[in-house]
Amino acid sequence: MVRFSRVLKKYGDHVVLRDLDFTVAPGEFVTLIGPSGSGKTTILRLLMTLERVDGGTIHVGGECLTHLERDGKLVPANEKHLRRMRRRIGMVFQQFNLFPNMDVMQNITEAPIRALGLSRGEAEARAVDLLEMVGLSDKAKEHPSRLSGGQQQRVAIARALAMRPEIVLLDEVTSALDPELVAGVLKLLKDIASTTNITFLCVTHEMQFARDVSDRVMMFDQGQIIESAPPEELFTAPSHPRTQEFLHAVV
Ligand code: ATP
Repeated sequence: MVRFSRVLKKYGDHVVLRDLDFTVAPGEFVTLIGPSGSGKTTILRLLMTLERVDGGTIHVGGECLTHLERDGKLVPANEKHLRRMRRRIGMVFQQFNLFPNMDVMQNITEAPIRALGLSRGEAEARAVDLLEMVGLSDKAKEHPSRLSGGQQQRVAIARALAMRPEIVLLDEVTSALDPELVAGVLKLLKDIASTTNITFLCVTHEMQFARDVSDRVMMFDQGQIIESAPPEELFTAPSHPRTQEFLHAVV
């Protein structure tokens, strides 16, 4: 579960998110769409604790991410709390961000060993299962530079799942891929979403993917959600004029 309550985020004087409220239910797949610069990536960066809120609170899995209670008052979360919460959240980026000096197996086992304290054997057993799931069992000993973009993105997905996250954030995961590799990665994500109870929050410009995989799509404009509906509804009969205009321009 993810809950934003009256979240304010600004960069200098520039207000990016204002009084933002939304909830993503456990196991739900929610996609954020909207014009460039509307604040979609900022939402993911706040959840990854790469940015701090300027107001409001964020809850993850029933626990407050942004604040701690001290003597009956809310105070900004400290680094220890953020580190603990971060383990519950996985992220897959546009640019894969694999460790170039490690092979595929090491890329997947590094964080579970270091952050979760798994033994190497346990982490490798987990990685073997994940590599099978993403169709790369034969690539465990390869370095990322010897893999295609689609294969690298599959490794990045396996790496995120190796931490057994409650929530996975997907940021434009196919935009750096050659067009013929996009469908395979999207199908993989769709399969994972339908066979696990992971909560997904996704930012994408791939409207077909948003339509295929999402339980709900949120249309975002100028730091606010202006419409939130199941994809079949939002894409076929958008109620807000701004959504109609946006979909007309991109579809
Ligand atoms: P896109 O679809 O192009 O990725 P977006 O909806 O994800 O856009 P954000 O990246 O969240 O938008 O950016 C929202 C606004 O905040 C933009 O106006 C952007 O210029 C601004 N912004 C983002 N990061 C910073 C930063 N580190 N410093 C200053 N301004 C920033």
